[in-house]
Amino acid sequence: MQALPKRVEVVEMGPRDGFQMEHRWIPTEVKIEVVNALARTGLPIIQVTSFVHPKAVPQLRDAEQVMAGIERLPGVIYEALVPNMRGAERAIAARADKVNLMLSVTDSHSLANANRTTDQALRELEPVVRLCQDRGVPATGGMATALGCPFEGFPPAERLIWVVERYVGLGLGEIGVADTAGMANPVLVHDRLSRLRDRFPDVHFSLHLHDTRRMATANVLAALQVGIDRFDGAVGGLGGCPYAPGATGNITTEDMVHMLHEMGIETGVDLDALIAIARRLPEIVGHPVESCLVRAGKSRDVIGRRKQGQDKVGAA
Ligand code: ZN
Repeated sequence: MQALPKRVEVVEMGPRDGFQMEHRWIPTEVKIEVVNALARTGLPIIQVTSFVHPKAVPQLRDAEQVMAGIERLPGVIYEALVPNMRGAERAIAARADKVNLMLSVTDSHSLANANRTTDQALRELEPVVRLCQDRGVPATGGMATALGCPFEGFPPAERLIWVVERYVGLGLGEIGVADTAGMANPVLVHDRLSRLRDRFPDVHFSLHLHDTRRMATANVLAALQVGIDRFDGAVGGLGGCPYAPGATGNITTEDMVHMLHEMGIETGVDLDALIAIARRLPEIVGHPVESCLVRAGKSRDVIGRRKQGQDKVGAA
């Protein structure tokens, strides 16, 4: 196998990409408690909330209160999603360490989700990026549907290059490539990310995967092979996409961290602490979560149990 990164940064999306899809109201103090617990696991970046219009995402209407209530552990970046100027102003006022700008790479998803084309979205982000730069708040340029769109299929590499060029033109150096609807396969991921890396060697690309069709861990491996070293995940695999029927949440953070650790790749995350948070989620969101680690434990735990004779498994 090709040399893989020795260390990977895991960005936790659960409190935003996950909670935003939950219908049952999650009390503000519970959100705060979850963010604090996540920060204590050693996750370096946590997307805490989204400064969208409260009518668009009622679950995150307490964005200001959550940002004000969380403890700020040194070394942890508390990030917020920002769709527009108003959102950026609110996020900066709420002392977000970093903002994640968002647009859809395909026009049809962009029109459905944000009522504007990709080009219009890019133009409208110009003053937003300027504001962030003026205020010294770093920004990541998000690229939803970059690896699959429920309306248009798989955008060609040229389309991705066009968006990245525009982002770079605005002065952004960190770009998040997203498989919003969980459509991408490892060959596609390898192709698109290697082309982007070759074309923009100075840009720090991250990968945002949804695990709708169980291809996300394979896609992580494909991305590691082209040197990607930052991945989004959601504890318990929380989340979905309102425009992609049947879409499930982000790749489950604890499952991804487990795979990386088993492969000898460091994340700095205390996996047991993360699993403990995932175990509590069903009671918080009111439904089961997608977590192999909650269900089966770590590979190494099982070895230990069988040695002690506690696990009487008859089958091969
Ligand atoms: Zn997402």
